[in-house]
Amino acid sequence: MSSPLNTPLSNQFVCPTNSQIGASLRPDQDAKCTYLCGNSLGLMSERSKTLVQEELDAWGSCGVVGHFKHPKNRPWVEYTDKLTPLMAEVVGAKEKEVAVMSTLTSNLHLMMDSFYKPTPGRYKILCEGKAFPSDQYAFKSQALAHGLDPTSAILELHPREGEHILREEDILKVLEEQGASIALVIFSGVQYYTGQLFPMEPVTRMAKEKGCICGWDLAHAVGNVPLRLHDWNVDFAVWCTYKYLNSGPGGIAGLFMHERWNNIERPKFAGWWGHELATRFEMPPVFSPITGAQGFQQSNPSTLALASLLGSLEALQEAGMMNPVRERSIQLTGAFEELLKQSKYFVPTSEVLKRHTQSHSTNPGFTIITPENPSSRGAQLSLLFLPLGSGVMQKVFDKLVLYGVIGDERQPDVIRLAPHSLYNTLEDCQNAAKYLDEAMGHGLL
Ligand SMILES: *Cc1c(COP(=O)(O)O)cnc(C)c1O
Repeated sequence: MSSPLNTPLSNQFVCPTNSQIGASLRPDQDAKCTYLCGNSLGLMSERSKTLVQEELDAWGSCGVVGHFKHPKNRPWVEYTDKLTPLMAEVVGAKEKEVAVMSTLTSNLHLMMDSFYKPTPGRYKILCEGKAFPSDQYAFKSQALAHGLDPTSAILELHPREGEHILREEDILKVLEEQGASIALVIFSGVQYYTGQLFPMEPVTRMAKEKGCICGWDLAHAVGNVPLRLHDWNVDFAVWCTYKYLNSGPGGIAGLFMHERWNNIERPKFAGWWGHELATRFEMPPVFSPITGAQGFQQSNPSTLALASLLGSLEALQEAGMMNPVRERSIQLTGAFEELLKQSKYFVPTSEVLKRHTQSHSTNPGFTIITPENPSSRGAQLSLLFLPLGSGVMQKVFDKLVLYGVIGDERQPDVIRLAPHSLYNTLEDCQNAAKYLDEAMGHGLL
Protein backbone atom coordinates (compact mmCIF):
# COMPACT_ATOMS: atom_id res chain seq x y z
CA MET A 1 0.00 0.00 0.00
CA SER A 2 2.97 2.35 0.53
CA SER A 3 4.09 2.27 -3.11
CA PRO A 4 4.02 5.66 -4.84
CA LEU A 5 2.19 3.79 -7.60
CA ASN A 6 -0.79 3.70 -5.27
CA THR A 7 -1.21 7.45 -5.57
CA PRO A 8 -3.01 8.23 -8.83
CA LEU A 9 -1.79 11.19 -10.90
CA SER A 10 -5.22 12.78 -10.73
CA ASN A 11 -7.99 12.71 -8.15
CA GLN A 12 -10.48 14.03 -10.72
CA PHE A 13 -11.78 10.70 -11.94
CA VAL A 14 -14.95 8.94 -10.86
CA CYS A 15 -14.83 5.15 -10.79
CA PRO A 16 -17.91 2.91 -10.57
CA THR A 17 -18.21 0.80 -7.42
CA ASN A 18 -18.32 -2.96 -7.28
CA SER A 19 -22.03 -2.92 -6.53
CA GLN A 20 -22.74 -0.54 -9.43
CA ILE A 21 -21.19 -2.90 -11.96
CA GLY A 22 -22.71 -6.04 -10.44
CA ALA A 23 -19.48 -7.49 -9.03
CA SER A 24 -21.33 -9.89 -6.79
CA LEU A 25 -18.25 -11.89 -5.78
CA ARG A 26 -16.41 -8.92 -4.29
CA PRO A 27 -16.87 -8.51 -0.54
CA ASP A 28 -16.20 -4.75 -0.65
CA GLN A 29 -19.35 -3.72 -2.50
CA ASP A 30 -18.96 0.02 -1.93
CA ALA A 31 -15.31 0.12 -2.99
CA LYS A 32 -14.22 1.24 -6.44
CA CYS A 33 -14.21 -1.55 -8.97
CA THR A 34 -10.98 -2.52 -10.72
CA TYR A 35 -11.38 -0.50 -13.90
CA LEU A 36 -8.70 -1.36 -16.46
CA CYS A 37 -10.62 -0.42 -19.56
CA GLY A 38 -9.40 3.11 -20.34
CA ASN A 39 -8.28 1.76 -23.71
CA SER A 40 -11.94 1.43 -24.62
CA LEU A 41 -13.75 4.09 -22.60
CA GLY A 42 -11.91 6.24 -20.10
CA LEU A 43 -13.51 7.23 -16.80
CA MET A 44 -15.38 10.47 -16.23
CA SER A 45 -13.56 13.40 -14.65
CA GLU A 46 -15.31 15.62 -12.11
CA ARG A 47 -14.18 18.54 -14.24
CA SER A 48 -16.04 17.15 -17.27
CA LYS A 49 -19.18 16.78 -15.21
CA THR A 50 -18.94 20.36 -13.96
CA LEU A 51 -18.26 21.83 -17.40
CA VAL A 52 -21.08 19.90 -19.08
CA GLN A 53 -23.46 21.00 -16.35
CA GLU A 54 -22.33 24.59 -16.86
CA GLU A 55 -23.17 24.38 -20.55
CA LEU A 56 -26.59 22.92 -19.81
CA ASP A 57 -27.12 25.81 -17.40
CA ALA A 58 -25.93 28.32 -20.00
CA TRP A 59 -28.29 26.82 -22.55
CA GLY A 60 -31.11 27.09 -20.02
CA SER A 61 -30.34 30.65 -19.04
CA CYS A 62 -29.26 32.10 -22.39
CA GLY A 63 -30.76 30.05 -25.19
CA VAL A 64 -29.32 31.05 -28.55
CA VAL A 65 -27.58 34.07 -27.05
CA GLY A 66 -25.01 31.67 -25.58
CA HIS A 67 -23.39 31.33 -28.99
CA PHE A 68 -21.90 34.81 -28.61
CA LYS A 69 -22.48 35.90 -25.03
CA HIS A 70 -21.90 33.39 -22.30
CA PRO A 71 -22.27 33.61 -18.52
CA LYS A 72 -18.86 31.92 -18.02
CA ASN A 73 -17.26 33.75 -20.88
CA ARG A 74 -17.10 30.65 -23.06
CA PRO A 75 -19.19 31.64 -26.10
CA TRP A 76 -20.09 28.53 -28.07
CA VAL A 77 -18.84 29.88 -31.43
CA GLU A 78 -15.31 29.88 -30.14
CA TYR A 79 -15.43 27.06 -27.63
CA THR A 80 -12.97 24.93 -29.64
CA ASP A 81 -10.34 27.68 -29.16
CA LYS A 82 -10.03 26.45 -25.59
CA LEU A 83 -9.43 22.89 -26.75
CA THR A 84 -7.09 23.21 -29.72
CA PRO A 85 -3.99 24.34 -27.78
CA LEU A 86 -4.35 21.45 -25.32
CA MET A 87 -5.00 18.95 -28.09
CA ALA A 88 -2.07 20.26 -30.13
CA GLU A 89 0.22 19.78 -27.15
CA VAL A 90 -1.02 16.22 -26.61
CA VAL A 91 -0.22 15.18 -30.20
CA GLY A 92 2.89 17.33 -30.66
CA ALA A 93 1.52 19.69 -33.27
CA LYS A 94 1.03 23.37 -33.94
CA GLU A 95 -2.42 24.68 -33.15
CA LYS A 96 -3.25 25.32 -36.79
CA GLU A 97 -2.39 21.71 -37.61
CA VAL A 98 -5.13 20.37 -35.33
CA ALA A 99 -8.92 20.39 -35.49
CA VAL A 100 -11.21 19.13 -32.75
CA MET A 101 -14.14 17.90 -34.79
CA SER A 102 -16.55 15.18 -35.77
CA THR A 103 -15.76 11.51 -35.15
CA LEU A 104 -12.78 9.31 -35.86
CA THR A 105 -14.08 7.30 -38.80
CA SER A 106 -15.58 10.38 -40.48
CA ASN A 107 -12.29 12.21 -40.09
CA LEU A 108 -10.48 9.22 -41.53
CA HIS A 109 -12.69 9.37 -44.61
CA LEU A 110 -12.14 13.12 -44.96
CA MET A 111 -8.39 12.73 -44.74
CA MET A 112 -8.32 9.75 -47.09
CA ASP A 113 -10.37 11.68 -49.56
CA SER A 114 -7.74 14.41 -49.55
CA PHE A 115 -4.64 12.28 -49.27
CA TYR A 116 -5.35 8.99 -51.00
CA LYS A 117 -5.01 9.81 -54.68
CA PRO A 118 -4.22 6.59 -56.49
CA THR A 119 -2.63 6.62 -59.95
CA PRO A 120 -2.18 3.57 -62.20
CA GLY A 121 1.39 3.15 -60.96
CA ARG A 122 0.97 4.17 -57.32
CA TYR A 123 -2.30 3.04 -55.87
CA LYS A 124 -1.77 0.74 -52.88
CA ILE A 125 -2.76 1.32 -49.28
CA LEU A 126 -0.26 -0.26 -46.89
CA CYS A 127 -1.84 -1.12 -43.54
CA GLU A 128 -1.77 -3.74 -40.81
CA GLY A 129 -3.62 -7.00 -41.25
CA LYS A 130 -6.45 -7.13 -38.71
CA ALA A 131 -6.70 -3.36 -38.45
CA PHE A 132 -9.65 -2.17 -36.37
CA PRO A 133 -12.75 -3.11 -38.42
CA SER A 134 -13.90 0.49 -38.94
CA ASP A 135 -10.53 1.26 -40.53
CA GLN A 136 -10.69 -1.84 -42.71
CA TYR A 137 -14.15 -0.83 -43.93
CA ALA A 138 -12.94 2.70 -44.57
CA PHE A 139 -9.87 1.53 -46.54
CA LYS A 140 -11.97 -0.84 -48.64
CA SER A 141 -14.69 1.65 -49.37
CA GLN A 142 -12.13 4.30 -50.32
CA ALA A 143 -10.47 1.89 -52.75
CA LEU A 144 -13.87 1.02 -54.23
CA ALA A 145 -14.75 4.71 -54.55
CA HIS A 146 -11.70 5.05 -56.80
CA GLY A 147 -12.88 2.09 -58.91
CA LEU A 148 -10.14 -0.16 -57.53
CA ASP A 149 -10.31 -3.77 -56.46
CA PRO A 150 -9.59 -3.74 -52.70
CA THR A 151 -7.88 -7.13 -52.86
CA SER A 152 -5.12 -5.70 -55.04
CA ALA A 153 -5.21 -2.12 -53.75
CA ILE A 154 -4.96 -2.95 -50.05
CA LEU A 155 -1.69 -4.40 -48.91
CA GLU A 156 -2.11 -5.90 -45.45
CA LEU A 157 0.97 -6.66 -43.45
CA HIS A 158 0.77 -9.63 -41.08
CA PRO A 159 3.14 -10.71 -38.31
CA ARG A 160 5.47 -13.60 -39.11
CA GLU A 161 4.25 -17.13 -38.60
CA GLY A 162 3.89 -17.83 -34.89
CA GLU A 163 4.32 -14.16 -33.96
CA HIS A 164 1.80 -11.51 -32.94
CA ILE A 165 3.69 -8.29 -33.46
CA LEU A 166 4.68 -6.60 -36.70
CA ARG A 167 8.43 -6.17 -36.83
CA GLU A 168 9.79 -2.79 -37.76
CA GLU A 169 12.24 -4.37 -40.19
CA ASP A 170 9.36 -6.12 -41.99
CA ILE A 171 7.42 -2.87 -42.38
CA LEU A 172 10.51 -1.09 -43.69
CA LYS A 173 11.26 -3.98 -46.04
CA VAL A 174 7.84 -3.80 -47.68
CA LEU A 175 8.30 -0.06 -48.08
CA GLU A 176 11.74 -0.63 -49.57
CA GLU A 177 10.45 -3.21 -52.03
CA GLN A 178 7.00 -1.93 -52.92
CA GLY A 179 7.18 1.73 -51.88
CA ALA A 180 6.94 2.97 -55.46
CA SER A 181 3.47 1.41 -55.86
CA ILE A 182 2.19 2.51 -52.43
CA ALA A 183 0.10 5.68 -52.37
CA LEU A 184 -0.77 5.68 -48.68
CA VAL A 185 0.83 4.15 -45.61
CA ILE A 186 -1.60 4.04 -42.72
CA PHE A 187 -1.07 2.14 -39.50
CA SER A 188 -2.37 2.59 -36.00
CA GLY A 189 -0.08 4.33 -33.53
CA VAL A 190 -0.90 1.68 -30.95
CA GLN A 191 -2.49 -1.52 -32.25
CA TYR A 192 -5.86 -2.01 -30.58
CA TYR A 193 -5.62 -5.81 -30.33
CA THR A 194 -1.99 -6.44 -29.40
CA GLY A 195 -1.16 -3.14 -27.73
CA GLN A 196 1.93 -2.76 -29.92
CA LEU A 197 3.26 0.79 -30.13
CA PHE A 198 4.37 1.26 -33.73
CA PRO A 199 7.72 2.79 -34.59
CA MET A 200 5.97 5.87 -35.92
CA GLU A 201 9.01 7.98 -36.62
CA PRO A 202 11.07 5.52 -38.72
CA VAL A 203 8.00 4.26 -40.60
CA THR A 204 6.96 7.82 -41.43
CA ARG A 205 10.50 8.67 -42.51
CA MET A 206 10.78 5.67 -44.81
CA ALA A 207 7.28 6.22 -46.24
CA LYS A 208 8.18 9.81 -47.08
CA GLU A 209 11.48 8.72 -48.63
CA LYS A 210 9.56 6.41 -50.91
CA GLY A 211 7.20 9.17 -51.95
CA CYS A 212 4.18 7.80 -50.09
CA ILE A 213 1.68 9.73 -48.02
CA CYS A 214 1.85 8.67 -44.36
CA GLY A 215 -1.17 8.86 -42.08
CA TRP A 216 -1.77 7.43 -38.60
CA ASP A 217 -4.85 6.29 -36.72
CA LEU A 218 -4.06 7.35 -33.17
CA ALA A 219 -7.19 6.02 -31.45
CA HIS A 220 -5.14 3.99 -28.95
CA ALA A 221 -2.07 6.20 -28.94
CA VAL A 222 -3.42 9.62 -28.06
CA GLY A 223 -3.34 10.26 -24.32
CA ASN A 224 -1.46 6.98 -23.95
CA VAL A 225 2.00 7.79 -25.30
CA PRO A 226 3.72 11.09 -26.15
CA LEU A 227 3.45 12.03 -29.84
CA ARG A 228 5.39 14.46 -32.02
CA LEU A 229 3.37 14.54 -35.21
CA HIS A 230 4.82 17.79 -36.52
CA ASP A 231 8.46 16.85 -35.97
CA TRP A 232 7.93 13.35 -37.33
CA ASN A 233 6.68 14.91 -40.52
CA VAL A 234 3.44 12.94 -40.47
CA ASP A 235 1.08 13.99 -43.29
CA PHE A 236 -2.17 13.45 -41.45
CA ALA A 237 -3.58 11.72 -38.40
CA VAL A 238 -6.99 11.06 -36.87
CA TRP A 239 -8.06 9.98 -33.41
CA CYS A 240 -10.95 9.67 -31.01
CA THR A 241 -10.91 11.10 -27.50
CA TYR A 242 -13.08 8.74 -25.48
CA LYS A 243 -10.35 6.15 -24.90
CA TYR A 244 -7.23 7.38 -23.06
CA LEU A 245 -8.39 11.00 -23.26
CA ASN A 246 -11.55 10.33 -21.22
CA SER A 247 -13.98 12.58 -23.11
CA GLY A 248 -16.99 10.31 -22.61
CA PRO A 249 -18.92 7.89 -24.83
CA GLY A 250 -18.93 9.01 -28.47
CA GLY A 251 -16.88 12.10 -27.62
CA ILE A 252 -15.70 14.55 -30.27
CA ALA A 253 -12.65 13.48 -32.28
CA GLY A 254 -9.45 15.02 -33.62
CA LEU A 255 -7.64 15.49 -36.87
CA PHE A 256 -4.10 16.55 -37.78
CA MET A 257 -2.79 17.85 -41.08
CA HIS A 258 0.84 18.90 -41.35
CA GLU A 259 1.22 22.58 -42.14
CA ARG A 260 3.26 21.87 -45.23
CA TRP A 261 -0.04 20.88 -46.87
CA ASN A 262 -1.78 24.13 -46.02
CA ASN A 263 -1.64 25.60 -49.50
CA ILE A 264 -2.03 22.31 -51.32
CA GLU A 265 -4.84 20.44 -49.63
CA ARG A 266 -7.98 22.48 -49.30
CA PRO A 267 -11.17 20.90 -47.98
CA LYS A 268 -13.18 19.34 -50.76
CA PHE A 269 -16.34 18.67 -48.79
CA ALA A 270 -16.82 22.16 -47.47
CA GLY A 271 -19.05 23.18 -44.59
CA TRP A 272 -19.69 26.51 -42.93
CA TRP A 273 -17.64 25.72 -39.83
CA GLY A 274 -14.53 25.42 -41.98
CA HIS A 275 -15.11 28.97 -43.24
CA GLU A 276 -13.03 31.75 -41.68
CA LEU A 277 -14.57 32.99 -38.48
CA ALA A 278 -14.23 36.66 -39.48
CA THR A 279 -16.87 36.35 -42.19
CA ARG A 280 -18.59 33.07 -41.27
CA PHE A 281 -21.71 34.73 -39.97
CA GLU A 282 -22.04 37.07 -42.90
CA MET A 283 -22.97 33.87 -44.71
CA PRO A 284 -21.06 34.73 -47.90
CA PRO A 285 -21.82 32.59 -50.95
CA VAL A 286 -18.16 31.70 -51.54
CA PHE A 287 -16.39 29.31 -49.20
CA SER A 288 -13.17 30.72 -47.80
CA PRO A 289 -11.62 28.03 -45.61
CA ILE A 290 -9.57 28.54 -42.50
CA THR A 291 -5.96 27.73 -43.35
CA GLY A 292 -4.85 24.40 -41.94
CA ALA A 293 -6.66 21.51 -40.32
CA GLN A 294 -9.58 23.59 -39.09
CA GLY A 295 -10.68 24.32 -42.65
CA PHE A 296 -11.92 20.72 -42.74
CA GLN A 297 -14.56 21.41 -40.07
CA GLN A 298 -18.03 21.07 -41.49
CA SER A 299 -20.64 21.57 -38.79
CA ASN A 300 -20.91 23.51 -35.59
CA PRO A 301 -19.70 21.08 -32.94
CA SER A 302 -21.64 19.75 -29.97
CA THR A 303 -20.84 22.05 -27.08
CA LEU A 304 -21.71 19.31 -24.59
CA ALA A 305 -19.10 17.05 -26.21
CA LEU A 306 -16.55 19.88 -26.25
CA ALA A 307 -17.20 20.70 -22.61
CA SER A 308 -16.71 17.11 -21.59
CA LEU A 309 -13.42 16.90 -23.50
CA LEU A 310 -12.25 20.24 -22.11
CA GLY A 311 -12.80 18.88 -18.60
CA SER A 312 -10.74 15.77 -19.21
CA LEU A 313 -7.96 17.67 -21.00
CA GLU A 314 -7.77 20.13 -18.11
CA ALA A 315 -7.45 17.18 -15.73
CA LEU A 316 -4.60 15.92 -17.90
CA GLN A 317 -3.02 19.36 -17.93
CA GLU A 318 -3.26 19.54 -14.14
CA ALA A 319 -1.38 16.24 -13.99
CA GLY A 320 1.44 17.72 -16.10
CA MET A 321 0.42 16.47 -19.57
CA MET A 322 1.97 13.50 -21.36
CA ASN A 323 5.47 13.19 -19.89
CA PRO A 324 4.49 12.33 -16.31
CA VAL A 325 1.60 10.27 -17.68
CA ARG A 326 3.94 8.20 -19.81
CA GLU A 327 6.56 7.86 -17.08
CA ARG A 328 4.05 6.52 -14.57
CA SER A 329 2.35 4.42 -17.24
CA ILE A 330 5.61 2.59 -17.99
CA GLN A 331 6.01 1.80 -14.28
CA LEU A 332 2.42 0.75 -13.77
CA THR A 333 2.22 -1.49 -16.83
CA GLY A 334 5.62 -2.96 -16.00
CA ALA A 335 4.50 -3.76 -12.46
CA PHE A 336 1.28 -5.27 -13.79
CA GLU A 337 3.22 -7.45 -16.21
CA GLU A 338 5.42 -8.73 -13.38
CA LEU A 339 2.37 -9.60 -11.30
CA LEU A 340 0.76 -11.46 -14.19
CA LYS A 341 3.95 -13.38 -14.88
CA GLN A 342 3.92 -14.69 -11.31
CA SER A 343 0.62 -16.45 -11.96
CA LYS A 344 0.77 -20.21 -12.10
CA TYR A 345 -1.34 -19.99 -15.25
CA PHE A 346 1.14 -17.78 -17.06
CA VAL A 347 2.77 -19.36 -20.11
CA PRO A 348 5.86 -17.66 -21.57
CA THR A 349 5.48 -16.82 -25.26
CA SER A 350 8.30 -19.22 -26.12
CA GLU A 351 6.19 -22.06 -24.71
CA VAL A 352 3.00 -21.16 -26.51
CA LEU A 353 3.93 -22.49 -29.90
CA LYS A 354 5.10 -25.75 -28.34
CA ARG A 355 1.87 -26.10 -26.38
CA HIS A 356 -0.23 -25.28 -29.36
CA THR A 357 1.34 -28.02 -31.44
CA GLN A 358 1.16 -30.60 -28.66
CA SER A 359 -2.44 -31.61 -28.86
CA HIS A 360 -2.40 -33.31 -25.45
CA SER A 361 -1.74 -30.05 -23.66
CA THR A 362 -5.16 -28.76 -22.75
CA ASN A 363 -4.37 -27.02 -19.47
CA PRO A 364 -5.86 -23.57 -19.41
CA GLY A 365 -3.34 -20.77 -19.25
CA PHE A 366 -2.56 -17.38 -20.68
CA THR A 367 0.30 -15.56 -22.29
CA ILE A 368 0.91 -11.88 -22.99
CA ILE A 369 1.11 -10.97 -26.67
CA THR A 370 1.94 -7.28 -26.08
CA PRO A 371 5.64 -6.48 -26.63
CA GLU A 372 7.79 -6.74 -23.50
CA ASN A 373 9.86 -3.71 -24.35
CA PRO A 374 8.18 -0.60 -22.87
CA SER A 375 9.23 1.44 -25.90
CA SER A 376 7.10 -0.88 -28.07
CA ARG A 377 3.92 -0.65 -26.06
CA GLY A 378 1.63 1.78 -24.27
CA ALA A 379 -0.48 1.10 -21.19
CA GLN A 380 -2.31 -1.96 -22.44
CA LEU A 381 -1.47 -5.63 -21.98
CA SER A 382 -3.25 -8.15 -24.19
CA LEU A 383 -3.68 -11.55 -22.61
CA LEU A 384 -4.07 -14.48 -24.97
CA PHE A 385 -5.87 -17.45 -23.39
CA LEU A 386 -5.03 -21.07 -24.06
CA PRO A 387 -5.86 -23.51 -25.42
CA LEU A 388 -6.73 -21.32 -28.39
CA GLY A 389 -10.35 -21.37 -29.45
CA SER A 390 -11.36 -23.37 -26.37
CA GLY A 391 -13.68 -20.74 -24.90
CA VAL A 392 -11.45 -20.30 -21.83
CA MET A 393 -11.21 -16.56 -22.46
CA GLN A 394 -14.96 -15.99 -22.35
CA LYS A 395 -15.36 -17.98 -19.13
CA VAL A 396 -12.54 -16.05 -17.49
CA PHE A 397 -13.89 -12.76 -18.73
CA ASP A 398 -17.38 -13.40 -17.37
CA LYS A 399 -15.92 -14.38 -14.03
CA LEU A 400 -13.68 -11.32 -13.89
CA VAL A 401 -16.72 -9.05 -14.14
CA LEU A 402 -18.21 -10.78 -11.10
CA TYR A 403 -14.90 -10.09 -9.34
CA GLY A 404 -15.18 -6.41 -10.26
CA VAL A 405 -12.41 -6.42 -12.85
CA ILE A 406 -13.42 -4.48 -15.94
CA GLY A 407 -11.29 -5.08 -18.99
CA ASP A 408 -12.51 -5.97 -22.42
CA GLU A 409 -12.69 -9.09 -24.49
CA ARG A 410 -11.71 -9.59 -28.09
CA GLN A 411 -12.95 -12.84 -29.56
CA PRO A 412 -11.82 -15.50 -29.76
CA ASP A 413 -9.03 -15.54 -27.16
CA VAL A 414 -7.92 -12.12 -25.96
CA ILE A 415 -8.66 -9.98 -22.90
CA ARG A 416 -7.21 -6.48 -22.91
CA LEU A 417 -6.34 -4.80 -19.62
CA ALA A 418 -4.95 -1.27 -19.48
CA PRO A 419 -3.93 0.52 -16.30
CA HIS A 420 -4.53 4.22 -16.95
CA SER A 421 -1.75 6.39 -15.64
CA LEU A 422 -4.11 9.17 -14.54
CA TYR A 423 -6.43 7.16 -12.33
CA ASN A 424 -5.30 3.55 -11.85
CA THR A 425 -3.07 2.32 -9.04
CA LEU A 426 -0.79 -0.59 -8.29
CA GLU A 427 -3.57 -1.96 -6.12
CA ASP A 428 -5.82 -2.15 -9.20
CA CYS A 429 -3.13 -4.22 -10.94
CA GLN A 430 -2.76 -6.46 -7.87
CA ASN A 431 -6.50 -7.00 -7.73
CA ALA A 432 -6.67 -7.82 -11.42
CA ALA A 433 -3.84 -10.34 -11.16
CA LYS A 434 -5.31 -11.92 -8.04
CA TYR A 435 -8.82 -12.24 -9.42
CA LEU A 436 -7.54 -13.49 -12.74
CA ASP A 437 -6.00 -16.40 -10.85
CA GLU A 438 -9.25 -16.94 -8.96
CA ALA A 439 -11.24 -16.85 -12.16
CA MET A 440 -8.96 -19.37 -13.83
CA GLY A 441 -8.92 -21.63 -10.79
CA HIS A 442 -12.57 -21.73 -9.83
CA GLY A 443 -14.07 -20.98 -13.18
CA LEU A 444 -12.41 -23.68 -15.16
CA LEU A 445 -10.79 -26.52 -13.34
C1 LIG B 1 -11.82 2.92 -31.27
C2 LIG B 1 -11.39 2.87 -32.69
C3 LIG B 1 -12.23 3.30 -33.72
C4 LIG B 1 -13.63 3.76 -33.45
O1 LIG B 1 -14.10 4.63 -34.45
P1 LIG B 1 -15.25 5.70 -34.16
O2 LIG B 1 -15.38 6.40 -35.47
O3 LIG B 1 -14.81 6.57 -33.03
O4 LIG B 1 -16.48 4.94 -33.78
C5 LIG B 1 -11.74 3.26 -35.02
N1 LIG B 1 -10.49 2.83 -35.30
C6 LIG B 1 -9.64 2.43 -34.32
C7 LIG B 1 -8.25 1.96 -34.65
C8 LIG B 1 -10.07 2.41 -33.00
O5 LIG B 1 -9.26 1.97 -32.03
